[in-house]
Amino acid sequence: MDPKQQRVDTAFDRDHIWHPYTSMIRPLPVYPVVSARGVWLELEDGRRLIDGMSSWWCAVHGYNHPVLNRALREQSERMAHVMFGGLTHAPAVELARRLVAMTPEGLDRVFFCDSGSVAVEVAVKMALQYMHARGEGGRNRIATIRGGYHGDTWHAMSVCDPVGGMHSLYTGRLPIQFFAPRPSVRFGGEWDEADFAPMAALLEEHRDRIAAVILEPVVQGAGGMWFYHPDYLRRLREKCSELGMLLIADEIATGFGRTGRMFASEWAGITPDILCVGKAITGGYMSFAAVLATGGVADTISSGDPAEFMHGPTFMGNPLACAVANASLELLAEHPPLERIAQIEQGLRRGLAPASGLPGVADVRVLGAIGVVEMRRPVEMASMQRRFVERGVWVRPFGRLVYVMPPYIITDDELARLTSALVDVVSAESGSEG
Ligand code: PMP
Repeated sequence: MDPKQQRVDTAFDRDHIWHPYTSMIRPLPVYPVVSARGVWLELEDGRRLIDGMSSWWCAVHGYNHPVLNRALREQSERMAHVMFGGLTHAPAVELARRLVAMTPEGLDRVFFCDSGSVAVEVAVKMALQYMHARGEGGRNRIATIRGGYHGDTWHAMSVCDPVGGMHSLYTGRLPIQFFAPRPSVRFGGEWDEADFAPMAALLEEHRDRIAAVILEPVVQGAGGMWFYHPDYLRRLREKCSELGMLLIADEIATGFGRTGRMFASEWAGITPDILCVGKAITGGYMSFAAVLATGGVADTISSGDPAEFMHGPTFMGNPLACAVANASLELLAEHPPLERIAQIEQGLRRGLAPASGLPGVADVRVLGAIGVVEMRRPVEMASMQRRFVERGVWVRPFGRLVYVMPPYIITDDELARLTSALVDVVSAESGSEG
C-alpha cells in the first residue's frame, strides 16, 4: 500500500456512519477502497476490482481521469465556489450552452441544482407553478408509471414505485400521485397500442388534477432495470400535448449515452417539456444536476404571479462542478461514445448470453452499456457481493437484479472478465436455488 494512504478505520465506520439503505445495528459489509483509476477500484488490502457499476451510473470516463482532474485543479485555483444569487461565471454559462446544444431541440432554459433528487423536486415545482401561472392551480398532481425510481426526497419518493420501491414505509404520508401500469412491451419487441391504453385512460379521467407526467424514458433504473418500447413515449408525448399536461423526462440515469443514444428520449424522437439530468454530468466527480425546460414552460412561469421561480440552493451553479462537467461533456464531444457503447452492448450480449439458460435466471436483457440478469428469487446481497469481490469485480445486486453498467472506457478484455465473473457467480446462485 502507498505509505501516504490513510488507513480506513472500519470499526469507527461501522459504529458511527450510516451507509446507503442499511440498518445501523446490522449494517451490510463495506469494503475500504483507497484509490480508483480507469476502470479499476483498489481496496485497502491491495485487491483490484473491475468496476461494473460506474459508481451508480456516473463515472462514465472511469476514475482519476487526467482531463477531469486538470479542470478541477484549474478551477479550484480560480474560485471553488461563489453564490449564484446575483453572480454568474464562465463555467456555468459554458455548461448551460453545452446542455442546450446537446439535449433535444427546444429545451433551452437551464436550472442548476445539487443532485438528481433535487432536480426531480425542481421539475415538479416547475410543473405546479406552470399550472398556477395558467390559472389551473387545481392541476397539482403528478402521474407516472409503476416501476419507476426518481430519488429519495419527498416528491421524488411520491413518484417512485409505490409497492416495489424503497419507500413503501411512507405510503399514506406522501403526496398521492397517479400510477399507470409499467409499460409491458419490451424495447425491441413489437409495439402494441393496448400497452398505452391504461395511461391514456388515467390521464383523461384525471385531466383536471394532473399537472405533469414524469418517467424515466425507455430504461427504468433502480425501480427494476426494465427496458420498454419507445412508442410508449411517443404516445405519451402526444397525449400530454393534447391534454395540456407537461411531460417530465427523468434522464438522470439514462442521460449522456448510457442507453446507446445521448439521451434516451431520442429513441422516441421526442422533446419533453422538462428534462432532468445528473449523475454522469460531472463524469462522476461530484454531485450536480440540471433541469432544462422549454421556453414555453419558463415564460409561462415567469409571466405568472409570482413571476419568480422560488428555488435557489446554496451550491447552485457551483463553479467546480460546472468546470468538471464542461470537461466531461467536452470529452464526450471529442470522443463520441456511442460507437464504443454499441461495442459494449455487443460484449454484454455475448458475455451474458450463457446466463439465460440457467434455472435460477428469469431474464437476461441488454441495452447500450447496461446489462441485466434478472433472477427468479431475490439474491442475498452481502454474500453475492463477497463472491464478486473474490472474482475481482465490483457489482452490487439488489432484489432479483444482478446488473452492470461499466464505465465507457472499459476494454473488451475487462468487459469479458466482468461478464464471465457475473455469469459464474449467478450460476453458483442459480444452482444453490435449485
Ligand atoms: N432519478 C433517477 C432515474 C435515478 O436513477 C436517481 C438516482 N439513482 C435519481 C433520480 C436521484 O438522484 P440522486 O441520487 O443524485 O439524488
